Amino acid sequence: MHHPQSLYLTYLGIYSLQHRGQEGAGIFGYPDPVVIPPFFQCGAGLVSDVFSQDSLSDHSLNYAMGHVRYSTSGGKHCSLAQPIVRQPREGQYFALSHNGTIPALQERSVAGDVHTDTSRLMDHLLARYETKSPLRSFSEALKTIEGAYSLLWMTPEGLLFARDPWGFRPLVLGKKDGSPVICSETCALDIIDAEFVREIQPGESGFVSFGSREVKQSCVPVEKPLHTQPCVFELIYFARPDSNIFDWNVYEARKRLGRLLASDYQVEADLVISVPDSGVPASLGFSEASGIPWDVGIIRNHYVHRTFIEPLPGFRDLGVKVKHNPIRSMIRGKRLVVIDDSLVRSTTSKKIIGLLRHHGAKEIHLGISSPPMAWPCFYGIDTPSRQELIASNHSVEQIRSRIGADSLGYLSLETLRKSFGPNFCYACFDGRYQVAQPAIGDLLGAPV
Ligand code: AMP
Repeated sequence: MHHPQSLYLTYLGIYSLQHRGQEGAGIFGYPDPVVIPPFFQCGAGLVSDVFSQDSLSDHSLNYAMGHVRYSTSGGKHCSLAQPIVRQPREGQYFALSHNGTIPALQERSVAGDVHTDTSRLMDHLLARYETKSPLRSFSEALKTIEGAYSLLWMTPEGLLFARDPWGFRPLVLGKKDGSPVICSETCALDIIDAEFVREIQPGESGFVSFGSREVKQSCVPVEKPLHTQPCVFELIYFARPDSNIFDWNVYEARKRLGRLLASDYQVEADLVISVPDSGVPASLGFSEASGIPWDVGIIRNHYVHRTFIEPLPGFRDLGVKVKHNPIRSMIRGKRLVVIDDSLVRSTTSKKIIGLLRHHGAKEIHLGISSPPMAWPCFYGIDTPSRQELIASNHSVEQIRSRIGADSLGYLSLETLRKSFGPNFCYACFDGRYQVAQPAIGDLLGAPV
């Protein structure tokens, strides 16, 4: 963005996007006029671990970009925090923030390998970069890349941005005091009182040069796929409920998922509760559609961070109790429907069901407001390998018995697809990967 308070505004923006990544954070930018060296600070951990009052008040920037890291490749090495910055020639800096995954540039992690698809993307962009036509060279370079990306690239000329032609990950354009702001979700616009302008379109790339407030769109045409593929799991779990992405309000989408689940999974019960926080909107929708009353049954401790000391001897099975605790009087003697947004390895549900049973619930019926997740994601969501995904090698009945529920119901893929339409990526549920890469075949491993 081009604003005299760019550093603090960017800090606020990435603070509001903390749910998208907790492994690292960083900000890169310049004052106006641009002076070298740029401001650059990044590190491992939460935004609040990386930035202090001093680091924010000692600098004043007019142009800035930031990132919160969520690793899908390259592991959790702290030097992988983004933006990644390169200085290929004396005094010429380039900074890249990438959300998504580019399977062809992603290699299996090798111990000690600190390369990621993002660092390889930087090499690719730099090799094709031309000072005289930054937008053209950037757009041409992206034409040969297949995968999921929403990205920002700050060059010595200004800020470039792009969203892949499938539109896997969100990217929105806003305006703050007349200057463009580009971010993953609208919650980052809300925190800085910026106005929402529109979503960056799949396949769109653009440029805002230093000193200008005008967004220039690329004139290099992209080959558009037959239909776009925004990630439906952003609506199910990943994005913040107060954001609007893919023309949906995320909270309303989740509530709708709960209502749909109630038609796919009919159960007799006294009370609907949710696994907080991500299961809450779907549980409200489920209660509304099923007519079963809703209440709070489980409280989540919001202050459990990476710094939590692992259980000491004699405190085994602390696991879920650290994060979730039931309100005993609400659940005792009741037939409960517990709603969660997704079941991945099944560890969480198994522990929560054990806890509820231990504290006197009479029956526990688990409703999942998404279909069985049987396929890993190669487009930016960190899901485990096929072997670790419980639904890839267990039937619904086997999963039910394993987690100890009285019944288990998923939202069917058919219902989900019918309601949200064909223009979404459902690969984690149906294994149909739109970007066919040899690398994906390798990564899937042997069928189970
Ligand atoms: P699991 O215990 O592996 O079955 O995980 C299920 C829980 O993790 C659910 O409560 C989800 O809200 C949450 N969840 C789903 N996908 C992810 C993800 N990619 N990263 C972190 N948590 C997730």
